[in-house]
Formats: sequence, structure tokens, C-alpha cells
Amino acid sequence: MTEKKSLQTLLTTTDYQPPEGFAAFPAAIHHASTVLFKDVAAMRARHWQDKTAYTYGLHGTPTTFTLEARLAEIEDGQYCLLAPSGLAAIAMIDLALLKSGDEVLLPDNVYSPNRDLANWLSRDFGIGVRYYDPMLGEAIAELITDHTRLIWTEAPGSVSMEVPDIAAICRAAHARGVVVALDNTWSAGIAFKAFDHGVDIVMQALTKYQSGGSDILMGAVITREKSLNQKIELAHMRLGMGVSADDVYLVLRGLATMKLRFDAHDKSARQIAAWLKQRPEIARVLHPALTDCPGHANWQRDFTGAAGLFSVIFDARYSEAQTDCFVDSLKLFKIGYSWGGANSLCVPYRMKTMRTDWSDAGQLIRLNIGLEETHDLIADLEQAFSHLA
Ligand SMILES: *Cc1c(COP(=O)(O)O)cnc(C)c1O
Repeated sequence: MTEKKSLQTLLTTTDYQPPEGFAAFPAAIHHASTVLFKDVAAMRARHWQDKTAYTYGLHGTPTTFTLEARLAEIEDGQYCLLAPSGLAAIAMIDLALLKSGDEVLLPDNVYSPNRDLANWLSRDFGIGVRYYDPMLGEAIAELITDHTRLIWTEAPGSVSMEVPDIAAICRAAHARGVVVALDNTWSAGIAFKAFDHGVDIVMQALTKYQSGGSDILMGAVITREKSLNQKIELAHMRLGMGVSADDVYLVLRGLATMKLRFDAHDKSARQIAAWLKQRPEIARVLHPALTDCPGHANWQRDFTGAAGLFSVIFDARYSEAQTDCFVDSLKLFKIGYSWGGANSLCVPYRMKTMRTDWSDAGQLIRLNIGLEETHDLIADLEQAFSHLA
């Protein structure tokens, strides 16, 4: 057995095999819908699910296989499938594992489009959907029925940032033979080793840190178990989840710097979160590394780092109009969805419309800390605070 590479070295390593007589670091961009066979026998012998060779562009090229192998290795998984967005990866998991009469459990803080998809499956496709308190832990066992097939988790939850006890949820799920999927986008597979905590399926929005460029959409589904991968592979084929070779190349190009970028985002975000915590305008800083954040102890136990994304809750004396004015006054922080790129972003959320049980009266604003100089970002926040009153 070979010694395991450190993550940073792994990220700079490529397994791509260039043609005989040529050597370089980058993987080539292979564009192909049609893949050619040398004769009919070779065509008939080929099965699309056999990933040791090529059948059709949708099922993979040397470029996509290279990215899939690298993502599986980063997460300590075995198999990986790419999808045209993070949301497409979520849909692929749901449609691979759920059928009419089955039931899926989602945390109440789940990424909103995942919730919207589940509600559609419930309304039009006969799939039961129930929401659980993300901090439930092992008590999720009480919600599992004979129809439960899949439990979604997110660590931490989108926007409100609660860090669940993933291992406890997995224990309860596995005791009843239920599969657990984790949206592991926040940790980028760097700061949380999902499979070690019992997760069966890891989903990544490569749109975020893997790309790092705010310029592409892509998702991935990573598994360890062959039978699970085969189910998801069928959904991948049936739904036609093709990805562009050019986009795959850009994600591969981003991987070498991903951990360095992630660590820089982490360092800056923690400094800004600590600065925000002592501001009188802010009631709570929902950053997993701070004690204000529900599930902080789970983060401390299970994670080796934090991403650049966190939220703050303003003191309840500030109205939505006032905090909107704060956001509009920011200059370096731009207003826009998504995260993981070099530029800082800011989005206000109306939590009461997103959650069944949201009681906090203060306005919530989510910050994506980019790669700008930390003190410039703090100065920007400081001048925006002066526009609150
Ligand atoms: C962005 C995001 C997604 C979806 O990714 P897209 O590529 O934008 O579809 C899913 N989950 C989380 C937590 C995200 O932040």
C-alpha cells in the first residue's frame, strides 16, 4: 500500500495520461459527443457503465473521468459523477433513490432550491417530504418510518449555519437501512471528511471553491459503495446530465489552488466574524467557529477548518429598510448569490419566509468573504454601519 499524499500535494497532482511522446501538467480538453469504435465487435462489447473505457460523450471522456477521479480522491470516496450544476447533482440523487410512496427527510435549514425540488416531488410525484430540526441529532430516529429512503443533511446549513451532528444522524439512519446524503459544499471536501462520519453520498457544488472563478456551474456526487453509485449512474444517464469539457477543464485548473484559497478565505472570514461580534449593531454572528453558532461544538469536534461563508443577525432594533441600506452602502461587498469566488458578496435573507420555525427578530445577512485584503473589507463594513441610522 502506498503512503497517502497530503491534501495539498494531492490537489497539485494529476493522473491524466497524455498521448505517447507528450508530457505536460494539464489534462487535455476532449470534446466529444460521438466516441468512435474500431469495429462492430468493439462497439457491441462496450457497456456505458464500464468506466474503464469510452462509449459516448454523455458517459464520459478522459477529461471528465480525470475530474471525477480527483474529486473522489479528495473526499476519500470511490466513485464520482458530474452534473451541470450543484442543484442538478441534488436532483440526480433524489431521482435515483426516491419513487412514489417513498419518503425523504430534509433539514429545515436546507439549501432553498433543494427544498423547492422536494416540495415539487411531494406535490406532483407522490414522494413524501418531511422537515426536521437540523440540531435533532440521534433523535431523528423518531421521524424515520418504513417508507423513509433518504435523509438529506447539510453541514453547516445554508444561510442560518447550524452545524448538525452528522455521525449521530447517520447512526440513526443506518439502524433503519436509510441512506444519508450530505451537501458538503461549504467544506469543499477539505474541512470535513464526510465518509469518515458515516455519510453515504456526498454532493458538491463545484460552482463554489473547486471552480473559485464565479464563472461556471457544476456539481458532483461522490460515493464509496458501488451499488449506490450504479443507481445514481442510471439517473445520470436517464436525465442526460452532460457537462462541458471546457468547464471541466476550468474546475481541474482550480483544484491546485483550492486549499490555499480555502485557507485564505477561512483566515479572513474568522477575523471579520470576530470583528463583527464586538459591534453593537450585531446581535449574533453565525460562524461555525464562534460559540454564537448552533452546533459550534459539532464543528469543533468534526471539522478541520471553516469556509469564507457565514451570516450575521442584526440587533432587532434595526428594520429591514435600515439593513437594506447597510447592504446598499457596501462598496467592496457586492450583492449577489453564490460564493466561493475571489470577490466578497452580501445577501439579505427573509428568514421567516424560508423556515417553519424561525423566531429571531433581527435581520439576517449572509456574507461571502472573498480574497480582498481583510482590513479593506472591515473598513467597508465599518463605513456601511454608519449608514444604518
Ligand atoms: C450553490 C449551492 C448549491 C447549488 O449549486 P449550483 O451549482 O449553484 O446549482 C447547492 N448547495 C449549496 C449549499 C450551495 O451553496
